[in-house]
Amino acid sequence: MKRIAIVDNNKLKDMALKKHIQSLCPVNRTGSDCMYFEDSKLLIDENLCIGCGICTKPAPEAIHIVNLPEELKKEPVHRYGKNEFALYNLPIPLNNKVVGIIGRNGIGKSTALKILTGIIKPNLGRPGREASYDELIDYFKGSEAQGFFEKLKKGEVRISYKPQQVDLIPKQYKGSVRSLLQKVDEKKELQRIAEVLELKEVLDHDISKISGGELQRVAIAACVLKKADIYFFDEPTSYLDVKQRLKISGFIRGLVNRNTGVMVVEHDLILLDYMADLIHLMYGKPSAYGVVSQPKSAKAGINVYLSGYLKEENVRFRDQAISFEARPPLSSRKEDLLTEWNAFRHKLGSFELEAGKGNIYKHDVIGVLGENGIGKTTFVRVLGGDIKGHELKGLMISYKPQYLESNDELVMNFLQEAIQKYEVQLIRPLELKPLFMRKLSELSGGELQRVWIAKCLSQDSDLILMDEPSAYLDVEQRLKLGRIISEILKITGRSALIVDHDLLFVDTISDRLIVFEGKPAVHGRVTGPFPMEEGMNKFLENIGLTFRRDDESKRPRINKPGSQKDKEQKRRGNLYYA
Ligand code: ADP
Ligand code: SF4
Repeated sequence: MKRIAIVDNNKLKDMALKKHIQSLCPVNRTGSDCMYFEDSKLLIDENLCIGCGICTKPAPEAIHIVNLPEELKKEPVHRYGKNEFALYNLPIPLNNKVVGIIGRNGIGKSTALKILTGIIKPNLGRPGREASYDELIDYFKGSEAQGFFEKLKKGEVRISYKPQQVDLIPKQYKGSVRSLLQKVDEKKELQRIAEVLELKEVLDHDISKISGGELQRVAIAACVLKKADIYFFDEPTSYLDVKQRLKISGFIRGLVNRNTGVMVVEHDLILLDYMADLIHLMYGKPSAYGVVSQPKSAKAGINVYLSGYLKEENVRFRDQAISFEARPPLSSRKEDLLTEWNAFRHKLGSFELEAGKGNIYKHDVIGVLGENGIGKTTFVRVLGGDIKGHELKGLMISYKPQYLESNDELVMNFLQEAIQKYEVQLIRPLELKPLFMRKLSELSGGELQRVWIAKCLSQDSDLILMDEPSAYLDVEQRLKLGRIISEILKITGRSALIVDHDLLFVDTISDRLIVFEGKPAVHGRVTGPFPMEEGMNKFLENIGLTFRRDDESKRPRINKPGSQKDKEQKRRGNLYYA
């Protein structure tokens, strides 16, 4: 059996511990150098290792011995270093197509894009030795990738790339948004693109002063202003609100033509489905190895992803299939009332929030949809009493804010209640154990989010308020999150109000919907809670789209604007599922 060994020497600082681990290896005990040192790094010779796993016991976070699927016959396309992450196969961009990539964090999506865009020179599994174009062409002989590298070699492919981490842009560029975009404006289309991406108002703002959502759109603008044959977008919708996400997805779709292709990494399944013609799935073990599947049609690819099983490759990457209910929950349930609020207005500087009368039942899950800057967080903070005047009295509320605070507290202490009460329901599915000994301030965005979700769901309360729990989570974690929340609410009988921009997530967990209307930064109006169907109809009417259910997986899909189904559903006023 083929296997790889991963050693994260950054997590393994203590020399005495490393020596101890080395002394445990049965192969070393017979006199061979299976575990050896290089520049004081502990390394494993994968040809000698027998896969006994003894060395992983004292350092489960740092050392992983992983058996590879049988069908991986070739060497990896790239390996970051000895005993480091390995990527197998590559996704291939095509003219006139949007090719999507879907997979967990740490599975190698960005690595694959960086190879195709030339940022990383692949080494065909030999760290420290870049492969030449001819070697790559030879390695990929007979596949689509061969043609791609042949064109790349001849300098026939121009490439433009929107990186994942837009928050790094202000560290690299200084000055105004306009000056940044002018520098890259090969197409001389700055005005038009700024208009389409709603950036006109921030053109003269300093790049360090704009919001995450604005930065994302600036990065997308910079990418498309360049003349290129292939445009790469690594997670183009993070920080964007639901309306902008839909708009940007349509915009990205619109970039392809006979001479132009697009490749996109995306965790929001509804958007990926809407954007992509073809999809590559990525599977493997995060931080150890990742494999790119053959391309599939978008519809089939997403259904295969949900099923958790790749037939052609004979690989199961999830224990269970993920399924959706065929119908939206029927009309609102007349159950016990938990709480209600009277109509109110609240002014915050020049912004005014206006809410009609509303209520929350016991065991009620209310999804909240609306643009950025329209008052969703303000509304939640008012109900929670964080902003005084109209709080829900006599209720114990557990709140997860949008912006997560962190300090030097250990995760283990922060999550005491969750560890004591909900090991099975929260700690395990959110994969929190490996984080216990870390400080909150050392966690990545997605790790901090998972910790806060566990904290919020484990606290004693009557009502759970969550602001954007899906932010920074990958597709797998988002799909899981819906089930985790539903499960906890069922056990505890609590109700929840959940603000989020991932429509599949909101659709899966909600019994009812609150929809915001108004003008961002000026006024916001809270309408609802509505029964699901009525709320979605109201929301979709605002953005001009219609939804149907996939006949196989029953997941929601956006109808292509102007398609038969789209027109028919609009005519009948039935925007949310025919
Ligand atoms: P994804 O985009 O799917 O989240 P990445 O391609 O960013 O995944 O990362 C895949 C793995 O490669 C991760 O475990 C990451 O730690 C590792 N990795 C990324 N960049 C480097 C690097 N420069 N050196 C070593 N390892 C890296
Ligand atoms: Fe040695 Fe076993 Fe670890 Fe391989 S898995 S390095 S053989 S201890």
